[in-house]
Amino acid sequence: MKIHYLNCFTCNARFPSSWRTGTLCLLVEHDQGLILIDTGLGESDYIRHPGILRVFRIATRVPLNQKETAVQQVQRLGYHPTDVHHIILTHMHFDHCGGLPDFPHASVHVHRKEYEAFMGRPRRWTDFAYVRKHIAHQPKFVFYEDKGEKWFDFSAIRLPFDPELWLVPLFGHTRGHCGVAIRTDAEWLFHVADSAPIGLGEYAPAWTINLVMGPQAPHLRDFSSAHPNIQITTGHMWLDFFENINKLTKEAIIREL
Ligand SMILES: [Zn+2]
Repeated sequence: MKIHYLNCFTCNARFPSSWRTGTLCLLVEHDQGLILIDTGLGESDYIRHPGILRVFRIATRVPLNQKETAVQQVQRLGYHPTDVHHIILTHMHFDHCGGLPDFPHASVHVHRKEYEAFMGRPRRWTDFAYVRKHIAHQPKFVFYEDKGEKWFDFSAIRLPFDPELWLVPLFGHTRGHCGVAIRTDAEWLFHVADSAPIGLGEYAPAWTINLVMGPQAPHLRDFSSAHPNIQITTGHMWLDFFENINKLTKEAIIREL
């Protein structure tokens, strides 16, 4: 099973200016068709910038390169947008689900609590990153709730895919935020999205991380040290990560040839 690591929204800090990041979306070549985990911004966001993106641009340097949309990257990989049969969302902030309208045929898998938070009245400041027009095309949603299952020591929900995929509730950043665990050829890939800082690093005091990402980071760091073979990715990664991992993939392809 091949996984493509797509940067679907570059976002660089103004201070420190060395902080250059991309929004990680995973394109999984799965036995049940292409599965996209998060979408980044969509084509329509480039045509008409959502208000939250304008606010974002005050604090960050956002190059806004439309070639970064998931739909254009899927096409550059030689697929058609309709080949993406399923989209799994970690959460519904604009930078994670803006591309939904570019894949109107896909089923959209999301935790019910996240959808409710998206549809409900804003309760905390992070709720202002929800943009209703991202589901104006009325996608086919598939909702999930906790049924008492476990993935390692996390409460988790087995998704209807084989090889296995799990939705792992990591609430806090948003009310229904989840990670996604993917059974890979080697082990597991655990995408914890915005529940922890980039690469689980400690770039800020614990209270700031708690405020922005929620309370999950300490548990995730412990889990990562106890399971060094499990690859953990976060929703935003340093730009180097994308450059290096894509170089590795290219080298692997050349070796295969
Ligand atoms: Zn977010």
